[in-house]
Amino acid sequence: MISCVQEDKARLQEELTTTETKRQTLGSTPQSQGTTDLEKHLEILVLENDRLKQELNSSQLQLQQLRISLSGCTDCEHSKENSRLRERATGLELELEEKTQLLTELGQHLKDVLHEKTEREERLNKRIRDCHLALNKQSTPSVKYVTKKVEVESSRTKQDLEESQARNLYLQEQIGIQRQLLTEQEQQLQDAWQASAQLQAQVMMYEAELERTRGEMLEELQSMEDEKNQAIEEVFLHARCEMKTVHENLNGVRMNLLSIQPALKTLTSDYNCLKNHVRDFPCLLQDAVGQTKREIYQAVEEAKATNQDLLHKYKHEMQLRKKCHNELVRLRGNIRVLCRVRPVTREDGTGPDTRNITSFDHDDDAVLYVSHRGKVSVFELDKVFRPHALQEDIFQEVQALITSCIDGFNVCIFAYGQTGSGKTYTMEGSPQDPGINQRALRLLFGEVAERSVDWDLTITVSMAEIYNETLRDLLGSDPQKIEDLTMRNLLAKDPSEKLEIKLSPDGSGLLYVPGLIQIRVQSVEDINKVFELGRVNRATDFTNVNERSSRSHALLIVSVTGINLTSGVRTTGKLNLVDLAGSERVGKSGAEGPRLREAQNINKSLLALGDVICALRSKQPYIPFRNSKLTYLLQDSLSGDSKTLMMVQVSPMEKNVNETICSLKFAQRVRSVELGAVVRRAESQHSSSRQDYELESSPAAQQGRFNVNHPGGSAVGKSTAGKRRLMVPGEVNHRQGLAAMPSL
Ligand code: ADP
Ligand code: MG
Repeated sequence: MISCVQEDKARLQEELTTTETKRQTLGSTPQSQGTTDLEKHLEILVLENDRLKQELNSSQLQLQQLRISLSGCTDCEHSKENSRLRERATGLELELEEKTQLLTELGQHLKDVLHEKTEREERLNKRIRDCHLALNKQSTPSVKYVTKKVEVESSRTKQDLEESQARNLYLQEQIGIQRQLLTEQEQQLQDAWQASAQLQAQVMMYEAELERTRGEMLEELQSMEDEKNQAIEEVFLHARCEMKTVHENLNGVRMNLLSIQPALKTLTSDYNCLKNHVRDFPCLLQDAVGQTKREIYQAVEEAKATNQDLLHKYKHEMQLRKKCHNELVRLRGNIRVLCRVRPVTREDGTGPDTRNITSFDHDDDAVLYVSHRGKVSVFELDKVFRPHALQEDIFQEVQALITSCIDGFNVCIFAYGQTGSGKTYTMEGSPQDPGINQRALRLLFGEVAERSVDWDLTITVSMAEIYNETLRDLLGSDPQKIEDLTMRNLLAKDPSEKLEIKLSPDGSGLLYVPGLIQIRVQSVEDINKVFELGRVNRATDFTNVNERSSRSHALLIVSVTGINLTSGVRTTGKLNLVDLAGSERVGKSGAEGPRLREAQNINKSLLALGDVICALRSKQPYIPFRNSKLTYLLQDSLSGDSKTLMMVQVSPMEKNVNETICSLKFAQRVRSVELGAVVRRAESQHSSSRQDYELESSPAAQQGRFNVNHPGGSAVGKSTAGKRRLMVPGEVNHRQGLAAMPSL
């Protein structure tokens, strides 16, 4: 439609241009053409005017149609604008109509004027003709006058014509302006129509969206409705099933109720019966209690008898266990020689001389190979511990020996080797990884607690040092230096006091050290205190403790005294843990003065120890105990059924190879002594009398229950200086009653 309007508009514009051209042509028509041309133009104008009117009507019709098409949109801004424009257009149309009417009137006026002019012309022509006629009759000057008159009349007509033309021009202009306004309004109308079309499209889009959403919602609503119906259906079915079950149950219950009723009757009668019984119950109870009491007494008596029997069997088993243990230790040999190879530590540094010269046999843990100068020497011992062996591994091997001291046996464990080979590490260890000393005492505490049912066991410890063949008590110290008050009171004696080993005056043949302090220990804390005291005393007066320790023998003497609570039998065992002085051959390297004396004393005592062990192992008739302070002090713990363990410590490094070979030779010498069936004779003449005493005084021994092993078999009693001592209750242990036995 818009294009149609636009076309119309263009056509109108064209027409206007044509009219304008015609008008200009009209305007430029020479005056000489006269009245006929004016009439022609007037006709053209009238025609043109009619045509324009027609076009205007058709435009109005189109406008009307447009209005109808836009009548749908009434309230929006565009429609308002539209109506406003329409009003304006109507106003303009009215104006146009007025103008057209005015034009018609003017046309009419022009016609009248032309008619009047024509009449005048006719009249004039007539007058002219009359005049001509009169002229013809009169003179020429009167003609001139008529002509002038015509000219005057003609100019007025011309002036009227000009005015009409001007008016026409003006009207044309007005039409042009009106048309322009109409075009603008059409343009606005078109814009409004476009906006309205867009809005309509948007509205349609929204409506479509709304329709789609509504459709979806309806669908969803429908599906929910379906689900709801289904759920209701299911619930209904379920409820019906349940109802059915409940009904069935109810029926079952009813049936049960019916069947229970007779049972209820029976129960009621039972209840009544029971009530009667309850009435009689106190009497019955009294009878039953009496009966039960009698039975309990009887059972207690039987249990007592069984207990006695069990106790008897237990004791018998204990004896057997001890016997077996003893047998085991004996089978291993009373003197055992072990070797421990220490690892190379960071302190040893690096270099060719720290090269490892030791190697081991994969199948035999008793063999050690040492390479030296291209040769490999083989050493055979009872067992060899490799460098990675733990303190725990070592202890496992020696713990059987340690427990045997509770059974009354004397035990010696020596750590032998050059300085730096790990003797102190094996015996003392570190606080984090303690050595044999602390582990042994811990084990003894455990055993004491285990046996506390029938044994009253007491553990005491002494610590001593042998330096330059002089015995020194390591627990006898300046009391002021000791923090622990209990100990300070106990140890108020001179630490530098020399101790002597003496023969017991009781004629038992035992040796004792008058003044050597023994401290009763009951816990690990006690041990730590004692060890600390020993360490403090060993450090006293010596600037270099390590040097000192390498030149003296350190002894930890643990005594275990036990009284059997049932039999009253008394046993005493002694565990000697000895960290020997360094075995290096200092004397040969040209030492002098005190250093030479120290070396000589060390060599002497180590040699004596080797000799004693050899003599004991080969059952020599004479054992040279008195050759050194050490062997003399340990005499009763080395001889007889005592058990001895020599831990030979060696360093694996090339630089120590000579000392390593020396230590291993010593070990092999001690070990290779054959165990002969030679009857052990007393290492001192006192031993036989002591053994007699023990055998006489110990009922257990008399009964043969504590059958102590002897190589000589029937020769029991001939050499029992170190044998387990059994004492009757009340017997005084003179051998150990040397100093007060303090308790921590
Ligand atoms: P000794 O008492 O024979 O002179 P030590 O016991 O003092 O020798 O040991 C010397 C060094 O070697 C010490 O630093 C010690 O910690 C270390 N050592 C010895 N044996 C071992 C071992 N089995 N494991 C680790 N270090 C050891
Ligand atoms: Mg040491």
